[in-house]
Amino acid sequence: VQVDTPDQKLRARAQRVIPGGMYGHMRSAGLPAGYPQFFARGEGCHLWDVDGRRYVDFMCSWGPIVLGHKHPAVTEAVQRQMAAGDCLNGPSERMVELAERLVGLIPHADWAMFAKNGTDATTTCVTLARAATGRRKILVAKGAYHGAVPWCSPYPLGVTAEDRAHLLTFTYNDAASLEAAVAQAGDDLAAVIVSAFRHDYGLDQELPDAAFARRARELCDARGAALILDDVRAGFRLTLRGSWDLVGVQPDLSAWSKAIANGYALAAVTGNERFRDAASKVFVTGSFWYSAVSMAASLATIDELERIDGPRRMREMGLRLRQGIAAQAAAAGIGVRQSGPPQMPTLLFDNDPDCAKGDRFTVEALKRGVYLHPRHNMFLSAAHTEADIDFALEATKEAFAALAAR
Ligand code: PMP
Repeated sequence: VQVDTPDQKLRARAQRVIPGGMYGHMRSAGLPAGYPQFFARGEGCHLWDVDGRRYVDFMCSWGPIVLGHKHPAVTEAVQRQMAAGDCLNGPSERMVELAERLVGLIPHADWAMFAKNGTDATTTCVTLARAATGRRKILVAKGAYHGAVPWCSPYPLGVTAEDRAHLLTFTYNDAASLEAAVAQAGDDLAAVIVSAFRHDYGLDQELPDAAFARRARELCDARGAALILDDVRAGFRLTLRGSWDLVGVQPDLSAWSKAIANGYALAAVTGNERFRDAASKVFVTGSFWYSAVSMAASLATIDELERIDGPRRMREMGLRLRQGIAAQAAAAGIGVRQSGPPQMPTLLFDNDPDCAKGDRFTVEALKRGVYLHPRHNMFLSAAHTEADIDFALEATKEAFAALAAR
């Protein structure tokens, strides 16, 4: 094992000046040995770490990179806006253009607001639901991730019971459990918040059941509560119309971020007429929420996704990967489960409670230039071509062989 690589030197320096050496979801210490912490550059569906190793990237920066790293059309729009100005005394024309674009694109949207991170968007949705209804209870699915502030953080450290006093839980795709939680909330129900699909960490992913989605809509309508769709992770990968459009259900409020500006920092909340008044009155803001560059990036990203039908491309490439892996696993006699939409695959191994097989497999793939994740859902981008998928499948084939040899 080399101990003086650029990555290791940076880790040692970070250890002194960055808490824990790194924090949050991009902390490589949570991944098996062999995963890099620091990256030098990205282009298309490729990524280079600071040690100069190249990978076909199946995490896409954990979602934001939907067209590929450094996409030329996005870079051009960014440079044009950067030359004019980014952070001004107010927004630029781009903000109105982008709000118009989202309202034209997303069936439930009558208006849009912008922020920076997914957590800003989910938290704003919750605030809006409470403001509009004058009620407090928010129903969340057990195990669902909606962000990293106290009301929704999955980790208890630094969070008080009071921060979460008005949360009640249900089980995703289980209408009876949602009905029970609605009954428990009584006349204090402000909102039900759902993810695009069940994409909980380390578990098989579950697409939304259409009957469950319709029941959630009915219950919110009957109680005058908001149906909030957290489309932060899946938005613009499955469809450009909002992920529950695929099951024929429109939310009242949607939270967006990650893929909407191909890697530039932007989040959005879209909502319908019912919530316009509350949205015009609540005080939600941030120093960088009006900056123009990421909005220019978003406009270019949407144009390109629409032009090439990005969701369909990602789906096709995701299916090619899924079918290849399924065939390889069967040939190697190794039980795997692939779940989630093809654009956002999750690969888990049978009889692998501590993820030791998943860890070994992904490290073997990593050595061969393919960046997979052993537990989290992965992400395709529109930059992945047949040739990239086939390159990845060569690596996974060898990774299965290495696993079978153990
Ligand atoms: N909701 C979902 C479904 C997410 O996947 C994420 C980010 N992983 C968030 C909210 C929070 O977004 P951010 O990290 O940008 O605050």
